[in-house]
Amino acid sequence: MEKVESFKLDHNKVKAPFVRKCCVLDGKMGDKVSKFDLRFLQPNKEAFGTAAMHGLEHLLATYLREELEGLIDLSPMGCRTGFYLVMWGDVEAKAVKEGLERSLEKVLNAEEMIAATSVECGNYRDLSLFGAKEYAKYVLDKGFSLNIYGE
Ligand SMILES: [Zn+2]
Repeated sequence: MEKVESFKLDHNKVKAPFVRKCCVLDGKMGDKVSKFDLRFLQPNKEAFGTAAMHGLEHLLATYLREELEGLIDLSPMGCRTGFYLVMWGDVEAKAVKEGLERSLEKVLNAEEMIAATSVECGNYRDLSLFGAKEYAKYVLDKGFSLNIYGE
């Protein structure tokens, strides 16, 4: 069984927060797709609370689409330390980092949670705007690196 690319990374050596371009995939029709890790928290040291992470997912799913053209998907990492981002095209990590920072500024200024009803979400009671803002502030203060091992 081939190891998934991100499982080959030594999670004890990386220094969060960082944006990592994992790969560019080539589609059969000539399309390209770029995959990124948006690692917010230090692996095996920190983890999001579920309501804060879920809140960030709702807000960033909206704001990142406003800030980055060609976004396909943003999804939470099961370890609760960050998000996966998938985009059309061969996209530079620096552009993703800048779009992410602008999106997190929007999180700080958000007045209400997005899609916080039972119609729009599968667990709408487990959403925290306060928690999302606390983590947005935390990672913006630390600053995202483009080098996974720190500056
Ligand atoms: Zn939801």
